[in-house]
Amino acid sequence: MKKTVIISTLLIILLMLGIPAAINWFSPAKISGSGTVVSLYLHRENKIVNIPLEDYLVGVVAAEMPAAFPMEALKAQAVAARTYVLKRMGAGELVNPVYPGADVSDDSRQCQAWISSEEMKKRWGTLGFYENYLKIKRAVNATKGDIIIYQGEIIDPVYHSSCGGAGTENAADVWRFDIPYLKAVECPYDADPEPKRTVLLTPEKVREVLQLKQEALPVTAGSNKLPAIEVVDKTSTGRPKTVQVNGEMISAVTLRDYLGLRSTNFRLLPGPGGLTVETVGYGHGVGMCQYGVKGLALKGRDYREILKHYYTGVEIIKQE
Ligand SMILES: [Zn+2]
Repeated sequence: MKKTVIISTLLIILLMLGIPAAINWFSPAKISGSGTVVSLYLHRENKIVNIPLEDYLVGVVAAEMPAAFPMEALKAQAVAARTYVLKRMGAGELVNPVYPGADVSDDSRQCQAWISSEEMKKRWGTLGFYENYLKIKRAVNATKGDIIIYQGEIIDPVYHSSCGGAGTENAADVWRFDIPYLKAVECPYDADPEPKRTVLLTPEKVREVLQLKQEALPVTAGSNKLPAIEVVDKTSTGRPKTVQVNGEMISAVTLRDYLGLRSTNFRLLPGPGGLTVETVGYGHGVGMCQYGVKGLALKGRDYREILKHYYTGVEIIKQE
């Protein structure tokens, strides 16, 4: 018994000493000659930092996907993240800068999320940090230089958390512009453990939010009744597209935003207690579905097959 404790303690000490050395050894500055540096705006600290691309990618994968996901899923996420940032860096003045002088922001509302090693340690604890960091680092290194292109052009690889098994959406149905590689596809092995959620919004809450967000909406002042609200048009995948609120049309995307719903795949069930909303999945539903990626990886698909499944007609190439 005592021996076991001593051996475990020794192992932990070895891990603490050995793994940081391994991390340094694997650092991109030492193994990469590409030298691409990302200028990243840290929105909480209101400052710009310059980070080697492959280091930046570790922070994105850590922020955007659970480290417990299979290796092929983490690789798919790493390639999507690399493609995303290089697309923005290559776009120059054409894209609205998220912050003057920065290529990207770490704010998930504007760009892909990113967290620092310090934040990873806070989230995972010291030992969890070493285990997860090295796993993510392996995924980034194994896909070094890989980017996604469509007909020779680097793509905008949008992704979302979960389609809930409903399949992904056409970009044209969600954002009103057609993108040939962002088409609705099936998501046969979506691994979201809880795709369906239900929320009850009181009439006051619905009225308050809709009035606050869009003054033009005719929600009668002084009344405590739920506004008349129903889905009047659906997308090709069966998700709500247009919703009528007291006779006024708004898009399902806008309603999702106003009411803070998890997805546009919702059912509206008005009742005496308020508006019950059932949602399936989480996120805008376009492009790569992260829980679907997990499912495909668990079924033995590699990251290239996975990316080609979610981005129609693309190729994965190595950019040195
Ligand atoms: Zn899915």
